[in-house]
Amino acid sequence: MSLPPSLLGVPVFSWTINNVCLWVEKSLNLKKLVPNFKSAGVDGAELYELVEEDVEGRLNITAKGQKKKVWNAIKKLKFSQAEKEAKKEAKKTGGKVKVAVEKSSNVGKKKAKEVAGLSLHVDKTSYSFGMACTFCQEEDKIAALHCMACKDFLCEDCDATVHQHVKRKNHVRTVLSSFDLDVAGQKVQAFLRYLGCRKILRAKARLVFDRFYDPAERLHYYYNMRTGTVQWTKPYCLKSEQLKPFMT
Ligand SMILES: [Zn+2]
Ligand SMILES: [Zn+2]
Repeated sequence: MSLPPSLLGVPVFSWTINNVCLWVEKSLNLKKLVPNFKSAGVDGAELYELVEEDVEGRLNITAKGQKKKVWNAIKKLKFSQAEKEAKKEAKKTGGKVKVAVEKSSNVGKKKAKEVAGLSLHVDKTSYSFGMACTFCQEEDKIAALHCMACKDFLCEDCDATVHQHVKRKNHVRTVLSSFDLDVAGQKVQAFLRYLGCRKILRAKARLVFDRFYDPAERLHYYYNMRTGTVQWTKPYCLKSEQLKPFMT
C-alpha cells in the first residue's frame, strides 16, 4: 500500500480533506468510500485522531471487511508516521534506531540482541528528550507537552492551536520533564541511595536511642545511650515512623 506521489513526504497532520480522499481512493483502492470520508470532513489531523469505533460511528462504514481494511490502513499510517519521527530523532541524537530495524529483518534467524535501554516516559509513552513537535514536525519546534487524548507531543504553539477547539479544550496535558535521560537516571539513582541510607540510619537510631514517657509533661522523650543526653524531639531520620511501635 503505497502513497500517491503527491502525498509522499507530506506529514499526515497537514493533509487536507481532499488529500485524505485521494489516499482512500489510490492507496486503499476504495473509491466507493470516498464520500464517507468527505461527508465526515476528515482531514489529516482528524484522521490521526480516529479510534477504531469511529470507522463505523463517524465514517459510517459498516461492511465488516471494509471496516477492517480501513482501520488497518489508518493504524499503519499512524505507525509509519511515528516511525518517521523516531528515525528523524535518531539521526539527530546519533542514531540508535537500529534496534527496531534489526529486529524486523532478523525474524526467524537469531534473536536480535535485546538492548536493555532506558528511556524517558510520560503517560506510559516513551519519548526522547528534545524531540520535535509531532504535530507541526518543524525541527526547531521542541515538544513541550504531551496530550494523552491526542497522543501527540506538542510544541507550545501547536498546543494552543490544537486545544483551542471546543472538542479538545478539556484535554489533560502533561509538561515534559526538563531533565534529559542521563540527568533523570542520576536523580533516580540518588533517590534510591537516599532511601537505602535512611533505612540504615533508622536501624542505627533504634540501637542508640531509647524512648521514655514523662507523665508530668504527657510527652515522650528520647535518651541517647551513647552520649547520655536526653531530647524531646524524635531523631529526625525516623520521619513519620516511631522509634518503637509500642508505648513505653
Ligand atoms: Zn508544533
Ligand atoms: Zn489533546
